[in-house]
Amino acid sequence: MIKQSALKPENAAFRETVPAGEYFLKVVKAGETVRILDLEGNQAADTLFYNAHNPTERYSAVDTIRDQGNVYLTAGSKLMSSENNVMLEITADTCGRHDTLGGACAAESNTTRYALEKKCMHSCRDSWLVAVTEHEELGMTKRDITHNINFFMNVPVTADGGLTFADGISDAGKYVELEAKMDVLVMISNCPQLNNPCNGWNPTPIEVLVWS
Ligand SMILES: [Zn+2]
Repeated sequence: MIKQSALKPENAAFRETVPAGEYFLKVVKAGETVRILDLEGNQAADTLFYNAHNPTERYSAVDTIRDQGNVYLTAGSKLMSSENNVMLEITADTCGRHDTLGGACAAESNTTRYALEKKCMHSCRDSWLVAVTEHEELGMTKRDITHNINFFMNVPVTADGGLTFADGISDAGKYVELEAKMDVLVMISNCPQLNNPCNGWNPTPIEVLVWS
């Protein structure tokens, strides 16, 4: 569902551009709104959410899908935690549909899906591993990297129940906005994938904005 935001970028308390292939890490407090902006279009923003005070409580794709009865995420979707609490709600969305089934790219999946020599390419899972390794204070390891959302990524479910990585439906300037319902740690990998069309074969920067 397309829904515009009334929030103005010039009033944002925080703005940061995240290059493709980099991670982004920030605590967003309950009541704050975070926007992920697709600056140049067709850029997958692979995102994980955690309870900022207890990262063993984290975003759960299965609980979110069951609760809303829809495999796609858009305005109105409530993102549920592994403890069945609402973590965030999508309050605006100018893209219209986001994936939470396709998972994140990894050395293993790049090798299996594409070619053995793709193993050393940058991947979202590796970016998150760098994030938790560089931030020991979070007390997180690779076992904490679980379900994610692929904002702006088009992963249609086919009539016979298959998944396909299709050309994107996002465009330059499209965004998704979420209001935090608890203090959440946001961990994004701005996807570096070059083997499928999830980034339009050209990974580009995103911008993250937060309103207090
Ligand atoms: Zn990726």
